[in-house]
Amino acid sequence: MDDPASPGQGRDGELAATIDRAVEILARAQYAVVLTGAGVSKESGIPTFRGEGGLWTVNGEPPMNGFQLFLEDTAGWWRQRLERRRAEEGDPASFARAVDEARPNAAHEALAELERLGVVKHVITQNVDDLHRRAGQHAITEIHGNRHWMRCLDCGARWPASEFPVDENRLPPRCARPGCAGVVKDDTVMFGEPIPDEALARCDAESRLADCFLIVGTSAVVMPAAGFPLLAWQRGAALVEINPEPTPLTGYAEVSCRGAAGAILPELVSAVRTRRSAGA
Ligand code: NAD
Repeated sequence: MDDPASPGQGRDGELAATIDRAVEILARAQYAVVLTGAGVSKESGIPTFRGEGGLWTVNGEPPMNGFQLFLEDTAGWWRQRLERRRAEEGDPASFARAVDEARPNAAHEALAELERLGVVKHVITQNVDDLHRRAGQHAITEIHGNRHWMRCLDCGARWPASEFPVDENRLPPRCARPGCAGVVKDDTVMFGEPIPDEALARCDAESRLADCFLIVGTSAVVMPAAGFPLLAWQRGAALVEINPEPTPLTGYAEVSCRGAAGAILPELVSAVRTRRSAGA
């Protein structure tokens, strides 16, 4: 609600002013790149890790050496993973069920529309939920992998999880490529696991091309992801942030729109579309 003492200047007035400024920046962008995090999928019913109500905010952080534990006992890790997955499938409140049942929301759809309008050239997402692709986004780097895929640690081959049945009697699963036989794991990048070089190179290249960087729903504390907007900023790009809470990137942003991505992005995109079609 606007502050009755100063109509148009209350919280809603401030938000409207930041959205106007973001529209201005995006409408003149030649090469906008987007960084998204868990917040963009919150309105699809997937909880975030950090931020208000996030799983870690409520329950504390898990150990940060997941990949090391995996390497120490790949068969044991897989056994536990299969047991955990069975339990999660039967638990309607589990994170896994939330991801499996989620559908793209208005924020994912608005970002896909910005790509169709030629404004957004690339999306770097930290999310593993596949929702950008399902919303129709084409140019995406999933820097932390995709929960619906599997990957060979030796040759990097990837398969949809549905096409890679895991035999409980032969763990860990091994690569199906002739002559490889490397250990296969979920494509999701674990804590302590190196991000595949190809993904890093693509993010670096896209960030160097960006004249505008839209940062949506990330607490911006996970590196290297949070470093890409800064790389672009050092090269003169304007940063635009959408997040209900401030982050370490807020101080670098030309404008921060404080609110939910699913409410702000559709409004922003509709205004950019109007501007572009009017040639403004
Ligand atoms: P995070 O959990 O650390 O932070 C979430 C951020 O989203 C917070 O800054 C919060 O203020 C903001 N937020 C909350 N609701 C929002 C909304 N409606 N609109 C916009 N912003 C909102 O997320 P992170 O920075 O992405 O880092 C966590 C890591 O865990 C990442 O690797 C992430 O991919 C992974 N993760 C992924 C999923 C997913 O795939 N959907 C979900 C949880 C965590």
